[in-house]
Amino acid sequence: MDRIVDGAWSELDHLLGPRFSRAETDRREHAASTSWIAPQLPDAVAWPASEEEVVEIVDACGRYHIPIIGFGAGTSLEGSVNAPNGGLAVDFRKMNALLEVHREDLDCVVQPGIVHQELNQQLAPHGLFFSVDPASRATTKYPPAFSNSAPSIPSIGCSG
Ligand SMILES: Cc1cc2nc3c(=O)[nH]c(=O)nc-3n(C[C@H](O)[C@H](O)[C@H](O)COP(=O)(O)OP(=O)(O)OC[C@H]3O[C@@H](n4cnc5c(N)ncnc54)[C@H](O)[C@@H]3O)c2cc1C
Repeated sequence: MDRIVDGAWSELDHLLGPRFSRAETDRREHAASTSWIAPQLPDAVAWPASEEEVVEIVDACGRYHIPIIGFGAGTSLEGSVNAPNGGLAVDFRKMNALLEVHREDLDCVVQPGIVHQELNQQLAPHGLFFSVDPASRATTKYPPAFSNSAPSIPSIGCSG
C-alpha cells in the first residue's frame, strides 16, 4: 500500500517541484488550526498555483484514493484542517486573484486563496466592498469562510 501511495507522491513532486512537501514542519503547520482538538497531520502538502494544477492534483489523489484537505489560512476553530485519515493538504495561498467584478450583479469571481482584506482593497476602486467581516479578516479565505462558518451572504455591497 505504501509503495502505491509513494507513486502518488512522486507524481505530485514531479508536477509541483518545490511546491510539494512531505517535510514534517510543513505537515505540522497544516494541521495546526486554533482548535483545542489535537493536530492530525496530513502526509504531504501541495501549493498549487493554477486551476490546471488543482485538476491534476485531484486526478492523482483520486487514482490513488488519497484524501484531500483544502487549506485556507488554518484559522478555523473546530479542527477542520485536521487529517484524521492522512492525505494531502492543498494550500491555496498562491491562488489569490480577483478574477472578475460584476458591478451590476453585485458579485465577483475569486480564486480560493484571496483573503478578506485583500478582496476589499481590490474592490474599493470599483466602489464595492464585501460586507461580511469575520474578525480574522487578514487571513480568512472565501471557500472556507462559506463552507466552514457563519458568513452566508453571497453578494457584495456598494459604497458609491
Ligand atoms: C480571531 C478569529 C476570529 C474569528 N471570527 C470569526 C467570525 O467572526 N465569524 C466566523 O464565521 N468565523 C470566525 N472565525 C473562524 C475562522 O476564521 C473562519 O472559520 C474562517 O472562515 C476560516 O478560514 P480559513 O481560510 O482560515 O480556513 P481553514 O481553517 O484553512 O479551513 C477551514 C475549512 O475549510 C476547508 N477548506 C479550505 N480551503 C478550501 C477550499 N478552497 N475549498 C473547500 N474547502 C476548503 C478546510 O479543509 C477546512 O475544513 C474566527 C477565527 C479567528 C482565529
